[in-house]
Amino acid sequence: MISKGSKISGNSSATHYGSALSGRLLLRFSQRLRRSNALALLKQIEKSPFTARENVSILQWSLLSEMLDHAEKRVPYYRELFRSLGITSDDIRSPNDFAQLPVLTKDIIRERQREMVREDVPIDTLLQHHSGGSTGIPLSFYREREYIDMSDAGTFRNLLQAGWIPGEMIAFFWGATDRLNQMSRWQFELRQALRRMYQFDPFHSGPTEMSIWLKRWGALRPAVALGYASTIARFAEFIERGGRSVAPLRGVFTTAEKLYPAQRETISRVFGCQVFDLYGSSEVQNIAAECAAGSMHINADFVVVETDDQAANPEGGKPLILTSLRNFAMPFIRYRNEDCGDLVPGHCSCSNNFPLMRLNISRVSDNFVLPGGRVVHGEFFTHLMYGTKGIANFQFHQTARNAITLWVVPGTGENANSEAREAAVKAAVRQIRALDPDHDIRVDVRETETLSLSGAGKHRFTRSDIN
Ligand SMILES: [Zn+2]
Repeated sequence: MISKGSKISGNSSATHYGSALSGRLLLRFSQRLRRSNALALLKQIEKSPFTARENVSILQWSLLSEMLDHAEKRVPYYRELFRSLGITSDDIRSPNDFAQLPVLTKDIIRERQREMVREDVPIDTLLQHHSGGSTGIPLSFYREREYIDMSDAGTFRNLLQAGWIPGEMIAFFWGATDRLNQMSRWQFELRQALRRMYQFDPFHSGPTEMSIWLKRWGALRPAVALGYASTIARFAEFIERGGRSVAPLRGVFTTAEKLYPAQRETISRVFGCQVFDLYGSSEVQNIAAECAAGSMHINADFVVVETDDQAANPEGGKPLILTSLRNFAMPFIRYRNEDCGDLVPGHCSCSNNFPLMRLNISRVSDNFVLPGGRVVHGEFFTHLMYGTKGIANFQFHQTARNAITLWVVPGTGENANSEAREAAVKAAVRQIRALDPDHDIRVDVRETETLSLSGAGKHRFTRSDIN
């Protein structure tokens, strides 16, 4: 794999990314090319957080009723569930009624995945997606294009609160896909300019790449940054350590992993702006977003958040139970995703009337530093195992710069596929070695029956002893 950063020459000051107005035109154009409806959807949802409190509940309830009705009519798993409970979706008339429905677990999704997909559209028109998750074992699920557009609109809405104007450049710190890696430099540059989202790849994030990022930054003139907390914080440290500075951003939005207070401080100092933590997951997106007053507001028009009050978490917070109000392809109704938090009563001092929560996640993905100095975000390794068969669980453990142990828990029962497992492991080893071709990286593959959990009772897909 070639680093996208390495394709970018430092001499890019001639590149002009235009004003917010031309940025807006470019964004509209790219949305039309991609047949994305996100900007139109943003208009629809833009004001929702600021409507009266009682209207927020009414809106949430009407979306929930619509989702329950859809699930009962078109999704075999839920139809059977309602039947077995002797009720119909119309019998659910209050949050209390709703809270009586059984919780959806990852095990149920794994066992009954196909029955959880809507049956009125061909499955090959849906988009399959894989995710990891804090307790291990990748999960496969389906989404529709409409859901992705709506999620983009939700992300845009989060950015608006920092004063971002649609069309202004977003610095996006996110793992590059193979498709992106295969693009020529000019294809890549054109794509980023049109989409108004310039992607910096945390899978290639050593000092060499970061110095290229920094050169690019001036010409890009991003208004906001969005992405992995650890990568943005490391980039901020890199800028500061080199005695450099960048023009202030309107806001930095961190997501996908825990944001530590020290990271928040560094990011805020270097980028001269507030840091907003976002909470979402692949399965259920846009769950909550921090406001300027520092409260985390649940996106009540995307999700219903409940907590499992019977279960305790030694680190604080209760397991969250999430219902997506927008994923009609494969409804997630009362889904326990194994993250923890609390619902917070009362209201925020800001004008956002969405309900409040506190997040207590310990989702940690370590960064791996390789012998050549390259830094690879842990998500790179988890992506290698997505969608593979014959593997019940896994962990990548870096014990030295040039040594990684891949622990594999073989699948059993229907998932006992040793051929597929061997092929997946071989491919993973090959891709890890290719990360740093000038050095010999030793990858020991070991099978085990169980993997120990961290102190917080969470599984970690990636662990590195090297800093
Ligand atoms: Zn607020």
